[in-house]
Formats: sequence, structure tokens, C-alpha cells
Amino acid sequence: MTSRDAVPDLAALRPRLPSPLRESADGRLERHGVRLLLKRDDLIHPELIGNKWRKLAPNLAAAAGRTVVTFGGAYSNHLRATAAAGRLLGLPTVGVVRGQELAERPLNPSLARCVADGMRLHFVDRSTYRRKSEPSTLAAVLRAAGAEDAHVVPEGGSNALAVQGCRALGEELRGRADVALIACGTGGTLAGLAAGLGPDGRALGVPVLRGGFLGAEVRALQHAAFGGPRGDWWLDERFHFGGYARTTPALESFAEDFEDRHGMPVERLYVAKMLYALVALAEEGAFARGTTVAAVVTGAPFTG
Ligand SMILES: *Cc1c(COP(=O)(O)O)cnc(C)c1O
Repeated sequence: MTSRDAVPDLAALRPRLPSPLRESADGRLERHGVRLLLKRDDLIHPELIGNKWRKLAPNLAAAAGRTVVTFGGAYSNHLRATAAAGRLLGLPTVGVVRGQELAERPLNPSLARCVADGMRLHFVDRSTYRRKSEPSTLAAVLRAAGAEDAHVVPEGGSNALAVQGCRALGEELRGRADVALIACGTGGTLAGLAAGLGPDGRALGVPVLRGGFLGAEVRALQHAAFGGPRGDWWLDERFHFGGYARTTPALESFAEDFEDRHGMPVERLYVAKMLYALVALAEEGAFARGTTVAAVVTGAPFTG
């Protein structure tokens, strides 16, 4: 049993913070006078990986022992991270999953991992899922899931607490890099990163979803977290490769080649697209000679 005043002891999980920052030679960047640093957030914790640690940690503290409810699709990195946190900290977790039809099928490996980590799954149809931030819909979903008293973390984990948690990522890069590159889903990590960088750093977000809505989202998240705009950031919307979880043979071979060159696994949903954008931008001459770019490795591949 968990008591509602027991703030989970996150330090007991021994996160590796600040995460390692390693220079890594890449001829495709060197040719353009660009120095590459890899910010290895994927090494923060083996199960609470990357930006998921930074976003979840303040929310787990705020949950103070209550059930944590959150939302995600069938392959959500965020759902898996929340489930793992629940197991490690002894917190009950509920995952609200998009797609009523998934309830009828065998669980995919990602959802099976969530269940193995003790997460209770609650499937909802897509139209309910789309309206999940409307108060009346949210209340009905929580009631149906038997989790009315829970700490609610939104889809992708991006709320004001999460964005504040990601500011530390920017602070760790302060004075070390001119530009920080990051893949974006909800934009919460970019919103915090940009706020932490300080006056000499700029952050470039690479959305992996199509739609062109992300700039407004990042501004709204910064407003919620900090009361207004923070830092110098911009987006390059050209590298979504068709949308979330979409890929192309060119992206796949780029990712395999990057793994060989740099001796590290490349997560395909987000990190591969950001790294592809990095090389493409350097080849376009987007970075002045002498620029140091930090590429944030926000996650690691899920191996089942
Ligand atoms: C969740 C995730 C992101 C996206 O983070 P947002 O804060 O939603 O933009 C980026 N990279 C990886 C590996 C992720 O798992």
C-alpha cells in the first residue's frame, strides 16, 4: 500500500545527472566547420529513459503516492516510462490507451511491457481520446477507469511541471553549445530546454508529427510553466518523414549508418529524424563555421 503523503524517493533510482555530454567526430559536419556534441539523455536511467525522466520526475513527486493516470498510443514511450516508474517506486499507474479496438487483440510488446510493470490499461475510442483534455470528458474517463482521485499527467507527459523539469537539460548545456537540436512530439522538452539554455544558446526543434501546430503548443507550454516566453528557439518542420512512426528507406539507412559511425543505438521514432535533420542542415550551410551543436539523444530504442 502507498500512503498519500509518501513522496516517492526518486534519488533512490540513482539517475545519471547531469547526463553525459560527449564530443563525437562526424566528417559530414566537420566539413562545414560544425562541431558535434551528443547529449546522452538516453543514459539517465535504463527504464526511465531520456526526456521521460526529466518530465516524469516532478510529476511523480507531485503525485505523492496517489495513482498516476496518463495517456498514450499503442507504442507510447511515455506510457512505458510511466509504468516502469510505477513499478520502481511502488506507485499504482493507469494508462488510458487510444483505440478501443486494441482491447480485443493480444497486447503488442510495448503495452505488454506496461502491464508487466503493473500498469492497468484502460482503452478508449478515438473520439473520446481526442477530447480527453475537456474537463467533462476527462472526468468521465477517470470515473470509468476507477481513478477519480489520481494525479493526471497529460499525453506525452507534457504539463507545466514537466516543462520545468526539462529546464535542467538546457542548464546542463549552458555555455557548452551554440545550438541544441531536439526531436519534438508534444514540444514539452523543447519548451523547457529553451528556457534553460541562457542568453548565448539557441534551441532548434524537429517535429516528428506533421501539422504545423507545434509552435503554438510550445508557446502555451512555456506560458503555463514560466508565465511567458523563454529563450531563443525555432522549429524546422521538414523532417517528419510522413508523420509519427512513419519512416522511409532513406531514414532507415541513415540511422543504421549513424549507429555504425558513432557506436550508439539510434531510437527511430524521434532521434533518427533529429539526427537526419542535423546532417541535412549542416549540408545546407545552416550553421556558421565554428558552431558547436549539441544533439540531444532523448531516448533509446525499445527492444521488446
Ligand atoms: C517522448 C519523446 C520525445 C518527445 O518529447 P516531447 O516533450 O513530447 O516533445 C522525443 N524523443 C524521444 C525519444 C521520446 O521518447
